[in-house]
Amino acid sequence: MAHVLIDPQRCKGCHLCIQVCPKKILQPSAQLNERGLYPCETSDADACIGCLQCVLVCPDVAITVTDDDARATKQGTI
Ligand code: SF4
Ligand code: SF4
Repeated sequence: MAHVLIDPQRCKGCHLCIQVCPKKILQPSAQLNERGLYPCETSDADACIGCLQCVLVCPDVAITVTDDDARATKQGTI
């Protein structure tokens, strides 16, 4: 299963990712980040299908998409 994570401090709220997500699980946050911008957030991170469209379009490299294998690997190295 894929999983999407957005770094709210890197995100500048351009909303390009919202437009390309086929699952419509990305949305503007109601909370300002440290730069005074409204970042993007996900409404259902585990509904992500791992298409990577959001990762490719994000100009600020604020999005990470992983699958269960990657998360298991990461957890194993901590
Ligand atoms: S990887 Fe695809 S489905 Fe997942 S959040 Fe990004 S655009 Fe949406
Ligand atoms: S494309 Fe990147 S910078 Fe733009 S709203 Fe999405 S996460 Fe933020």
